[in-house]
Amino acid sequence: MAIRTVVWGENVHEQKNEVVRNIYPDGMHTCIARALSDDKDIQVTTATLQEPDHGLTEKRLAETDVLIWWGHAAHGKVEDAVVERVCEAVWSGMGLIFLHSAHFSKPFKRLMGSPCNLTWREAGERERLWVTSRNHPITRGLPDHFELENEEMYGEPFGVPEPLETVFVSWFQGGEVFRSGLTYKRGAGNVFYFRPGHETYPTYHDKNVQTVIRNAVHWAHNPMQRLADPKDAPNVPVDKAPEKIEERGPRLHQAGEKGLR
Ligand code: ZN
Repeated sequence: MAIRTVVWGENVHEQKNEVVRNIYPDGMHTCIARALSDDKDIQVTTATLQEPDHGLTEKRLAETDVLIWWGHAAHGKVEDAVVERVCEAVWSGMGLIFLHSAHFSKPFKRLMGSPCNLTWREAGERERLWVTSRNHPITRGLPDHFELENEEMYGEPFGVPEPLETVFVSWFQGGEVFRSGLTYKRGAGNVFYFRPGHETYPTYHDKNVQTVIRNAVHWAHNPMQRLADPKDAPNVPVDKAPEKIEERGPRLHQAGEKGLR
């Protein structure tokens, strides 16, 4: 079965900014989707902010194995109900790949639980990405480093929790460095953050960048059946404990009570 992948694009600068439109006439999400469609094991569609429910209904998310998220100008316009729905899908087992300025997107901040801030500079400088996790599946087919001639600088400290793995580190011409490929597990879902992709540069046309995103889709895919209720917190009564126990001391809750949230 092919990996059902949705590329979500905010689709704002492509409509408003001449430079961005010239690089991505059909939108950044379409460029990324086309690159993924070369892989016969990936079945790709797109969704945008402007669609009802931002294109991410319960049903659509239930039928999505991996979601890719690019946003920048309109993070605040993403409805909180959709953010919660996306996070629940991740906790249930959906993979989620956040690209570039999605570090400040609502679902990324919710899943990281930290400010996700960084330093930045828009000066078209060279970025050199180094593979830091040898033979990691996300690096399949890549050289030990590759360069993007023009990129926005993102610098450390990056305000995220310590990742499971650091897959790439970037060096920028101006001297800063940044952890540019990070993996996380949130609930049952695999999460990957990948740094490159400022909208005024042709980053998503780059073959190495496309390879990373394609590999990341395979890595993030969790083939296990989704959890029905990832936020369930059931009470286990005394008589259902794995070992026989005697109830002792006072208690707050009645048997069978749902508990406090
Ligand atoms: Zn940017």
